[in-house]
Amino acid sequence: MNMIDPFGRAISYLRVSVTDRCDFRCVYCMAENMTFLPKAEILTLEELDRLCSAFVRRGVRKLRLTGGEPLVRKNVMSLVRNLSRHLGKDGLGTGALEELTLTTNGSQLARHASELADCGVRRINVSLDTLDPRKFAAITRWGRLEQVTEGLAAAKAAGLSIKINTVALKGVNEDEFDALLEWCGREGFDLTLIEVMPMGDIGGENRLEQYLPLSLVRARLAKRWTLEDLDYRSGGPARYLRIAETGQRLGFITPLTHNFCESCNRVRLTCTGTLYMCLGQEDAADLRAPLRASSEDGALDAAITEAIARKPKGHDFIIDRRHQAPAVPRYMSLTGG
Ligand code: SAM
Repeated sequence: MNMIDPFGRAISYLRVSVTDRCDFRCVYCMAENMTFLPKAEILTLEELDRLCSAFVRRGVRKLRLTGGEPLVRKNVMSLVRNLSRHLGKDGLGTGALEELTLTTNGSQLARHASELADCGVRRINVSLDTLDPRKFAAITRWGRLEQVTEGLAAAKAAGLSIKINTVALKGVNEDEFDALLEWCGREGFDLTLIEVMPMGDIGGENRLEQYLPLSLVRARLAKRWTLEDLDYRSGGPARYLRIAETGQRLGFITPLTHNFCESCNRVRLTCTGTLYMCLGQEDAADLRAPLRASSEDGALDAAITEAIARKPKGHDFIIDRRHQAPAVPRYMSLTGG
């Protein structure tokens, strides 16, 4: 029943966007005036649980909830609590799942951090692109830095390991990476830098103006910090170094300068039950229809098998003068990061 794609890659990692809604409007992610999905199209939390459980039965060992902003979905903690039954011996439950985690903008963490820890969540990713309150307000359009720093403090107090995800933005936060590394060192957070990807129509914003290759960032950081290569893998696309001076890990997610698709172990489910087999391709499978057609999982399993057989070799993101249009029209907030 395990999921092996046509290139021999075992699928063991499911990312689930539990809502397309978000309380921020980051300039590289969304247009300011977004139209969100009608509520009727969105799976209930029970349906999401059933879908996730089917994937765990089919060999998924790592489950990441994302969005939109996962923590703005009403009653999302009941989903987290229910899914925790799948966690194996180091978690709370008795199942085969090795990790239940989430990616969040941190705005609601102050309310939810201790319950997340109580549900067996051990590590979380928190997206934060700047430590400057004014820049933060400009990047997120609707956010306040204080919400996130309070959320981080609550997560730390709850004992959660924290990785900060920072999208590298040319001329916006490229002068802040040293400060972010120092801050992460003091706080005990790991840091991952991400190249901006050409996804979704972001209105007046220009991708070419935003794009900063991480090959360049790494060369700059090497002048100031001692970068030690690491074999460590978190199960995702990041490649890690250790910063000798702080002891913390620094990850690079480089979908443009270095394509990492050969080791892809992931598929992505949206809140409408659409399965994307690649973040950077449009092909998708509808799992909502087979899910709703029967309370038995036979048709659902067949649809999953058929979808995995179509997983493409990889994405082909390009950002340059000749490629100004998005590589895929859907927003990152639909499929989740
Ligand atoms: N709201 C949550 C958060 O902020 O982490 C989860 C969803 S958000 C879409 C997930 C991650 O995708 C965030 O780290 C965000 O910065 C990143 N992201 C959004 N659009 C992106 C893009 N076009 N290129 C690269 N990363 C992007």
